[in-house]
Amino acid sequence: MTNPHVAMLGLGRMGSALANRFVATGVPLTVWNRSPAKSFPFQGRATVATSAAAACDMADVVVLSLSDYSAGLEVLDEASAACTLAGKTLLQLTSGAASDARTMQVWANMHGMEYIDAAIVAYPNGVGTEAAMLFYAGAEEVWERHRETFTHLGGMNRYLGDSIGAAATLECAVLEYYYGATLAMLHGAALCNSENFPLTEYFYLVKALGPLLTGTADASRTMISKGLYDGADCSLDVHVSAIRRIQRMSHDNGIDTRVPDAIMAAYKKAIAAGHSDAEIAALFETLATNS
Ligand code: NAP
Repeated sequence: MTNPHVAMLGLGRMGSALANRFVATGVPLTVWNRSPAKSFPFQGRATVATSAAAACDMADVVVLSLSDYSAGLEVLDEASAACTLAGKTLLQLTSGAASDARTMQVWANMHGMEYIDAAIVAYPNGVGTEAAMLFYAGAEEVWERHRETFTHLGGMNRYLGDSIGAAATLECAVLEYYYGATLAMLHGAALCNSENFPLTEYFYLVKALGPLLTGTADASRTMISKGLYDGADCSLDVHVSAIRRIQRMSHDNGIDTRVPDAIMAAYKKAIAAGHSDAEIAALFETLATNS
């Protein structure tokens, strides 16, 4: 199907960026937002609906970008009482957990809607650019039918198969990496700052660390797949010495120690489980259980 009519429900920071991208790429669009003021910038560029039901009524594809899945269920429950949703495709672009995706799929199927659960990893100003990653889960035939419309939204579009929780799972995993790495990166900046070390040099080197991180990712993937963590690079014992140094310097310089403390706790758990001589990827074994 080319150029299906899209209803965009939710015009917050992300919803507005998605709607603007649909407008820019010529997708026929109706927008709706709970607070009408956020619809005003779309006057004359898209159809502005006064209710979610009115927006859904004229659409082939209903796109949600709301605070959470429960808001989506609330909005769609109300819309379903006033219009027929059966036969339409629901594209969920609200962030959630895998269990939220499963609940929404049941709801969509009960109402005769096709369902694609999706996730976006980008800030609103990245929507439509090469840097925006979008993940999609759901029936392949539905994805293929709407691929052209959906892929207007970002440069990296990954269809993950029909296991409906896959997009939410991958988004959570990728965001955890982003948040964890960003937290440690900012803690390193605080450490430099505590010694009046120029942050320009630090941030230059942070960017240059890219190949080390991707190399570690490659080695970890191989080791996890084999369940073997022997290697000649660096033992967990030696990594622990480095982390202890970071803890001590943070303490000495009066900065927050909770980041190195949390890192140390994870490494000590792996060492207690018998991985002291193993490579860094052995942490996976003890992170994979909550004991
Ligand atoms: P936001 O600016 O806070 O917008 C939230 C939207 O949800 C608004 O349109 C709000 O309507 C609506 N809403 C909340 N509860 C509602 C309810 N009960 N009924 C109807 N509408 C309701 O948030 P956002 O940044 O756009 O985020 C939206 C989604 O995108 C989230 O799931 C977020 O995780 C995801 N996301 C955001 C980013 C980002 O960088 N911003 C990046 C990736 C993914 P009102 O205007 O009436 O309050």
